[in-house]
Amino acid sequence: MSLRSADPEVFNAILKETERENDNIELIASENFVNEAILEAQGSIMTNKYAEGYPNARWYGGCEYVDIVEKLAIERAKKIFKVEHANVQPHSGSQANMAALFAMVKKGDTILAMDLACGGHLTHGHAHNFSGMFYNIVSYGVNKKSEMLDYDEILDLAKRHKPKLILAGACAYPRVIDFSRFREICDKVGAVLMADIAHIAGLIAAGIHPNSCGHADVVTSTTHKTLRGPRSGIILCKKQYARKIDSMVFPGIQGGPLMHVIAAKAVAFKLAGTKEFKEYQGQIVKNAKALAAGLKGKRYRLVSGGTDNHLLLVDLTDRGITGKEAASALDKAGITVNKNLIPFDKKSPAVTSGIRLGTPAITARGMREDQMKLIAEFIDNALRRTKDKKALSDVKKEVKALTKKFPLYKDLIDKAAEK
Ligand SMILES: *Cc1c(COP(=O)(O)O)cnc(C)c1O
Repeated sequence: MSLRSADPEVFNAILKETERENDNIELIASENFVNEAILEAQGSIMTNKYAEGYPNARWYGGCEYVDIVEKLAIERAKKIFKVEHANVQPHSGSQANMAALFAMVKKGDTILAMDLACGGHLTHGHAHNFSGMFYNIVSYGVNKKSEMLDYDEILDLAKRHKPKLILAGACAYPRVIDFSRFREICDKVGAVLMADIAHIAGLIAAGIHPNSCGHADVVTSTTHKTLRGPRSGIILCKKQYARKIDSMVFPGIQGGPLMHVIAAKAVAFKLAGTKEFKEYQGQIVKNAKALAAGLKGKRYRLVSGGTDNHLLLVDLTDRGITGKEAASALDKAGITVNKNLIPFDKKSPAVTSGIRLGTPAITARGMREDQMKLIAEFIDNALRRTKDKKALSDVKKEVKALTKKFPLYKDLIDKAAEK
């Protein structure tokens, strides 16, 4: 039975979403476009299989083929991240963080993690998230002047609060994270070091950002951001924590693993070991720097003055618009971004003073520095006329002309158009 005949409403929504992804400029820093091989694995019949447990130790029969893919995923993850143990079962980055925290620290323990307003994630201590409900959260931010991590300040906080665990990692931090400095701090106060590399995993796998494995006791990540795999999570750790982590993922917080997603993760980890992937990750950073240069040329202020990775944070305070207004105007111009708090933001998370821009997705469809220059112009044109409908639709036309030169999922769109 085809999807088109079984459920035309869902079929059409998926087709429209494919066209939207193709037509717009996708700058959400946590998003990416997977290739057809990932889609094929993730859309496979492995969704049918129950496989509670781990390879060669399952609660169900008939696991010989799903065992193959899970073992491949584990071995490949260990290889690309140079780590002793990998658990590839977490359903998402948040589940990976829940399992890692539950395994490493007890309810009520003190955790030192990055302030959400400075780039931390919900699972790093938001009051309405399990992390904020179960742990005593102390947060570190960035230095007020440099807007970068201040390791001396983090050490001071660690000495003062004696956390059981320090969490390094962020979703809106445009600079290199020095995991070796975090290790030193943890060693000085006897804390466990957990690194959350959800955003930068692809850069790390390609050797472009320093590796957290080797420094951190436990590392969590998503697999769908820079890493360009299926929407999912992973935990990497030293051998000594392997049993603890595995039993906290299952049976601790999850039931049956999503074997079709694990199959797609295996494919993604294989691709992450290739020369092409290295080049792709290098281009993501080159593109982020080019986009930063383009916006600075138009006098936009970038948090911390620029970027070392795949994302930039634009402070719109002196442009007289909020992050919310900017994101909405850009949306009308065919450019997809998210509003984002900037460090020490005076506005609320629902309004914000900034926007976050990332290059993983546009780089995946083949855009390079020349296109970044154009995109900076499009953004400037839209942000200077946020209330001018005609101007925004003019930008949208230019956006469409550009994206047309970098087709995405063309076969899927053509196939869906066939009768
Ligand atoms: C995206 C992200 C997560 C959570 O990932 P989900 O798959 O959305 O649950 C966790 N930590 C950081 C730093 C992230 O950026």
